[in-house]
Amino acid sequence: MSFLDRVNQVQKAVGDLLFPRRCPFCDAIVEKDLLCRRCRGALPFTEGRALQKGTFGRCASPLWYEGDVRKAILRYKFNGRMGGLNCFGSLMAQCAAEELSGEFDAITWVPISRKRLRQRGFDQSRLLAASVCVDWHTEPVETLKKVVDNPPQSGTEDAAARRANVLGVYEPADPAAIAGKRWLLVDDVITTGSTLAECARVLKEAGAADVVCLTLAAARRG
Ligand SMILES: [Zn+2]
Repeated sequence: MSFLDRVNQVQKAVGDLLFPRRCPFCDAIVEKDLLCRRCRGALPFTEGRALQKGTFGRCASPLWYEGDVRKAILRYKFNGRMGGLNCFGSLMAQCAAEELSGEFDAITWVPISRKRLRQRGFDQSRLLAASVCVDWHTEPVETLKKVVDNPPQSGTEDAAARRANVLGVYEPADPAAIAGKRWLLVDDVITTGSTLAECARVLKEAGAADVVCLTLAAARRG
């Protein structure tokens, strides 16, 4: 074993001792896996059934937005619990490979406003997109900026009101970088799809060849 391998081994051992790896959905300590055995069997995986089609194109999501999945996403988004990012990104990357393979050649995300970024300190969908990219040897590209700090969609139930709430709030960050590419647009949760639809519309207006969407979770409809 080389000196660097030894240093790395000691570093990992100290890390595991001080901060054991935890399942992001139930907080159980896990040895090597990204999520615990119980959650692997019990979580509401969509298994392709969440694949939706709308004005946003096609959208794939590995999990239903309910129970422990909903709680884990809220802990990540509002309490800044980052420990689950590897797991979230890995589940999303696997889902994209299964449902959307060959349909995109670049990755971007649904951004939050500058005001929200200052409050929260991180852009949750940007970090998800980066985590999705880890095993793909690429990086997400910033294509959109949110220029209006609209009220959160979660406070709006009605589909028409949700569409109106996001209309015109995104602008292309760099039209030249957008044009001609087939984009994978990443967000945390899809509910009615109005946010993704508005972002896809802006990307297409800026010359995107196509847009398909990937979210960590999907709200069940109806
Ligand atoms: Zn678990």
